[in-house]
This record gives sequence, structure tokens and C-alpha cells, in this order.
Amino acid sequence: MTFLSTPLRTALTELSQSEDTAFFVYDLDKLSAHLNALTQQDVVKLWYAVKANPLSAIIQTLDRAGFDFDVASSGELNQVLAQGIAATRVLNTGPAKSKRQIAHFMAQGVRTFVAESTNQVAWLQAAAAEYHTTLRILLRVQLRWPDSEKNPLGGDSLTPFGLGVNEWQALTLSDYPNLDFAGLHIFQWGNMLSSDKLASLWSQMVPPLQALAQSLGMQLRILDLGGGLGIPYTFTTSGLEWPKLLDALATIKATSGVDELWMELGRFAVGECGYYVNPVVEQKTNYGAKQLILAGGINHILRPAVTNQAFPCQLLRDSNATPSDFLLHGPLCTALDSLGQHSLPSDINENDWLVFSQCGAYGFTESMPYFLCHELAAEYVLQQGQVICLRDAQSAAYYLR
Ligand SMILES: *Cc1c(COP(=O)(O)O)cnc(C)c1O
Repeated sequence: MTFLSTPLRTALTELSQSEDTAFFVYDLDKLSAHLNALTQQDVVKLWYAVKANPLSAIIQTLDRAGFDFDVASSGELNQVLAQGIAATRVLNTGPAKSKRQIAHFMAQGVRTFVAESTNQVAWLQAAAAEYHTTLRILLRVQLRWPDSEKNPLGGDSLTPFGLGVNEWQALTLSDYPNLDFAGLHIFQWGNMLSSDKLASLWSQMVPPLQALAQSLGMQLRILDLGGGLGIPYTFTTSGLEWPKLLDALATIKATSGVDELWMELGRFAVGECGYYVNPVVEQKTNYGAKQLILAGGINHILRPAVTNQAFPCQLLRDSNATPSDFLLHGPLCTALDSLGQHSLPSDINENDWLVFSQCGAYGFTESMPYFLCHELAAEYVLQQGQVICLRDAQSAAYYLR
């Protein structure tokens, strides 16, 4: 799945010859082909969860493939609008919608919101009345499962996302004349790789959501299942099959009786198009273990430290040397800066570059670039055989004051 094609390897090799430090490359042709396969169906309306990768060229590629946009902050909204996308194609989800942020979204023309608290409902009503308009609202529901069945994202632990059924039940919809309560939103699971498991989770959610809608006197027209579709982070794990998922989604749509199913995809949409290319500083042996010290680490790609799951990694050049297990370390002065254990050719050395794949989502913007004042990674896109630089590497002088 993630081995490098010859043109991609050639492009990365050429870039590595002109770059001094780690950089990201996003293959937009690969991304387009993947996205077009996702949108060619009429089962589920697809939004792009912009937080996965807010780069302009990525957003534009999703736009061309027919996605609309789910944003969580004013910064993400501005970035989407700056790509020429209409505010009517934006959905706002997120637990921290201040009155100030709601005012900004209203002023920009956003009219679809996922409400995550009773305050948000009241503030959205006030904003809608001020604009003499009606907002399309989905209520975000946080379900709990019977003791034995754990919520895989965080056990049965409480999260700030949405409200439980009992809390929502206290809402009187008619108190909010400018809000069209069109549906419910539910999203509790991350990086799921089994379509059967997803199908089973989704189908278990339908009865409690239908019961909530009924007790609120709401006609459940839209059901938003959020994200959570996974991608594999090893070369040997296989990914989700979209046709199988569509079958499961079609069943959910039919049994729940909704007009529209929505999902906001992040990782599954863009994760596989991105590569993080990182120079080796040195190889050393320590207490008998082989270590590689790399120019970039969790300052550029934090996810391994957060999830304890490495990005898949390969050597950029060809090598016939026998593979060995290496522990990979970034440049930060913390043991947290580990990019995992990988089997790599044993002749790897200080002239080499490593390519980490599956880095298109939760990479550059989910990192800690300021610690120790190393460079910010450059971002490149590859489009129709051309390499385009969207931002050069920047030294710490770029942000230090
Ligand atoms: C992050 C997020 C997503 C995207 O999640 P993925 O697992 O990357 O698809 C979707 N919806 C909401 C509300 C999110 O916060």
C-alpha cells in the first residue's frame, strides 16, 4: 500500500538533494484519484474535517472532488474561504464555540452548525435572530455503552464532545424558533480499520439516537456519523474497503430512515497522500541496540508520541544490505521524541534519508515545532509530475521574538 512509486521516489530523491532538513510532500494526483472514488456514490454526503490537513492545495483538491468542509475554528474557516469556497458549504463542529467565534462564522455566512451544549444552542439562536435567518442545527450526542462494551476511543470516559442523551432530553426545541433541528451527530471512535466493527458500532447507535429524536419531537432527517475511518500504519495491515463501508452505510441509512447520512472524513481522506522525508544524522549502537538519530522527530510529526504508533518508514535509496531493527529518534531532548522501531537496511548512514508514509493527516499542524528551535519543515505538493513548494523550511528566526 505505501511503497513508493518510481516517479514519486525520483521526485523525493531530487528534493532530498536540494534540501538540508526534513520536509513534507503531498501527492495530489494520488489524492484526487482516491477522493474521486469516495464521492462517486449517493449514499453519504462527505465533508472534509479540515483539522486533518489545512494546507491550501489539499483543501482545493477536496473541493474539486466534491467534498464540503467541516471546520472547528475561525482560523480553519478563514483558510477554507481563502480557497474560494462558499460559506454555505461549511459546517462548524467543535466543543469550544464562543459567542465571539459564532459571530465570526455568522458574519462570514456559515449557516450549518453542530451544537455541542445547551449554551451553544442558545447562542446560535441569539445569533440567528440577530441575522433574521434560520440555522441548520445538528445536536452532537455522546453515547455511553453498557458496562461490558467499552467505547474504543476512551473507554466509557467522559469527553467534552456533545452532551449525553439525558442532558439533551431537557431541551425544548420550540424555545429556539430560528433553529432548524435537522438531525443528530455522533462521533466517538478513532482510526477504525474493520468495516464489520464500524457497521456494528453504527447500527448500535441508531436505536438510542432515534429514541432521543422522538422524545425531543425532532424528525431525524440527517444523521452525521463523524469520522473515525482508519488507515493502516504498517506495510502489512490492509485498509478499509470503501465499497464494503458503503454497503454498511446504506443499511444504516435505510434502517434509520433518514434523508441524509453525513460523514466528516479526515484521516481516511488525506492520510495516505502525505510523506515526511527526513535525513539521518547518524547511526550508532547503544547497549547493543542500533539507533538512528534523525534531523526531524516529533517537532514535525507528533502523532507517534501521542498514540504510541509509528508512521511506516523506508529508506529512500535502494539497498541490498541485510535489514536490521533500528530505534528511530528525533532531535528533541526528551525520550518522547521517538519515531518507532523499524526494520531497515543495516548500511544506513549519515548520507541517507528516510521516507515516512501515511503522513497526509495529523502531520505538520499536529506537531510541536517550536521546542528546541529546530527548523519548521517545508511543505511541497506533487501535481501532474511537478513539484511545487508551498512553504520553504524556516529557521527559528521566523517565529522567535
Ligand atoms: C477530527 C474530526 C473528524 C475527522 O476524524 P478522522 O478520524 O480523521 O476521520 C470528524 N469529525 C469531527 C467532529 C472531528 O473532530
